[in-house]
Amino acid sequence: MDLPVIQYAKKICEQELRKALAAGKEGGIEIYYQPLVHVSTGKVIGAEALTRWVHPLLGDISPRIFVPLAESNGLVTDLDRYVLTVACLQARRWQDTYGPIRIATNISPHSLQYADFVAVILNILQETRLPPECLEIELTENIAIRQEHTLSILARLKGLGIKIAIDDFGTGYSSLNYLRVFPVDTLKIDQVFVRDVESSQQEVPITSAIIRLAHELNLQIVAEGVETEEQKNYLLRKDCHVMQGFLFSKPLPADQFERFLQASVHSRSRIGRC
Ligand code: C2E
Ligand code: MG
Ligand code: MG
Ligand code: MG
Repeated sequence: MDLPVIQYAKKICEQELRKALAAGKEGGIEIYYQPLVHVSTGKVIGAEALTRWVHPLLGDISPRIFVPLAESNGLVTDLDRYVLTVACLQARRWQDTYGPIRIATNISPHSLQYADFVAVILNILQETRLPPECLEIELTENIAIRQEHTLSILARLKGLGIKIAIDDFGTGYSSLNYLRVFPVDTLKIDQVFVRDVESSQQEVPITSAIIRLAHELNLQIVAEGVETEEQKNYLLRKDCHVMQGFLFSKPLPADQFERFLQASVHSRSRIGRC
């Protein structure tokens, strides 16, 4: 049980977050986009949408703080819906100009429990006219995968053509069971396994085993948190080609992401699908 003062602070933050969500961009909730780069060709194949909250008095608040807060008071479903709406619309506009592009968004396990979540997503796809196969939903391993309800929601999302990724792969409780019970599309190797790579010569068995596992299961593999040339070279040598990380770009506001995308499109041929 929290101390009364903490409870009080949480209440205030909750009210502030509610106001911010209701006001949209004017409320300080912004979506940044981090490029997903196919490194061997240099193409930007998509972006992960990451939320930022800039509070007028408190300044930048990290999603690592406000997402758990939103999860504890049920606001996270509104947040996830807002992010999906903005990101899907943005992705469709970029597609119109630059060709197919994937948009990945993080969805909280709480939203998946929400009865109408499939209808919410379907509605967003219809309104934004984004092809479903261009949307990838990132889930962490800690969702209650054994629950019938969750499984049926995931199956319906897949049935619509939406892609499903396991985020932070290797750090949750149930990694392998997850893969056994549900056909996901993509594994995102957690940053900790990328950080373990210090030189591209030195073998890093868990990292390379995760990549092999993905290949074995015919899954896409994305490495997150790539910061150095050594890490990039090691991953390429292990046949992991899609990467995300500060080495390529930090998460960017929409207009800056578009410039990054433009540069990639102009320097290389366009990609044919999401
Ligand atoms: P995540 O989905 O695993 O996102 C990757 C995080 O790693 C992001 O942190 C990103 O800025 C950071 N990152 C990217 N490249 C590098 C790198 O090279 N080095 C390092 N050290 N970090 C890097 P961020 O944006 O602070 O987000 C933190 C987490 O908050 C996300 O982890 C995600 O789980 C959650 N989150 C963010 N936006 C949303 C959202 O809209 N909805 C939900 N439900 N969760 C969100
Ligand atoms: Mg993610
Ligand atoms: Mg991650
Ligand atoms: Mg994470």
